[in-house]
Amino acid sequence: MATSRLSDTTLEHFADLLRKRRDELVEMMRSNDDALAQVRESLGEGTNDDEHDPEGPTMSDEWSKLTGLQSEGEAELREVDAALARIEAREFGMCESCGNAIGRPRLEARPYTTLCIDCARKAEAR
Ligand SMILES: [Zn+2]
Repeated sequence: MATSRLSDTTLEHFADLLRKRRDELVEMMRSNDDALAQVRESLGEGTNDDEHDPEGPTMSDEWSKLTGLQSEGEAELREVDAALARIEAREFGMCESCGNAIGRPRLEARPYTTLCIDCARKAEAR
């Protein structure tokens, strides 16, 4: 694994970005959890026809939306944690595939990315 060419200040900057993103994700997943618990409760009560709105989204739609968000959140959280570990190991900012430095604008936009723009394009084209 190539060693990061980024300076301590730059690494610290990205560690900050990642920790903030991590807080956001944890917060989002906690409120998602609450929402899921509410949906679970409503489902447990069975169908209440009086309050049923045929135009509105059904509870199971809501449920799949929330569980979808939840697993996206978990996946991103894992990427964020892995990126923080790469900062610790000073491997951050290097492409996992070709070993070249990942462009700064790309890192600013997605600090947890593991591929440089060229390799990401190749991976998408596959
Ligand atoms: Zn690459």
